[in-house]
Amino acid sequence: MKEPTTRMNDKCRECRECGGEAALHSYKHVEKVGRWTVTNASSMAWQCRVCRAPQLSLDDLQNYQLRAVKTALCEGKTEGGVLKYARKALGVTQKELGAIIAYNHETVSRWENDKDEMPQAAASALVGVLCRAIDGETPEEMVETARRIKEKRPGDETGGELVVLPSRKKSNCA
Ligand SMILES: [Zn+2]
Repeated sequence: MKEPTTRMNDKCRECRECGGEAALHSYKHVEKVGRWTVTNASSMAWQCRVCRAPQLSLDDLQNYQLRAVKTALCEGKTEGGVLKYARKALGVTQKELGAIIAYNHETVSRWENDKDEMPQAAASALVGVLCRAIDGETPEEMVETARRIKEKRPGDETGGELVVLPSRKKSNCA
């Protein structure tokens, strides 16, 4: 029989706030997305037994933000404040987001400033982008993929080559 390996997750962790012992508990994360409050009660996190502070890494926080804004969009909340939040959570500029979902940055700016309403197709595309980010795809990779798709788009008269891009690892984005 194989020797049991050390399980890192069973090690004690120290609270960053008070130095107390932290343990893995079910955790309820509350995120403010524009004027909406999104609660995620479906995860586990290290929390201090003394002061209850959750011990979240920057990656954890970004993941909660991406999931929270995805929830808001899926509930049909597509106003400017939510879109701005989504873009910041993704860490992209208006120009980059526009490139990824195939809209120009002026259009993205109008949505964010509530001068135009984001169409449903664009909202769905943005939800897809959030899922890809939750699965670990970087903005740089998404911009590059969008660029390749645009380049390979065949002319209407001549026809051309269609490329099926490889799908990434199995999605964790429920
Ligand atoms: Zn503590």
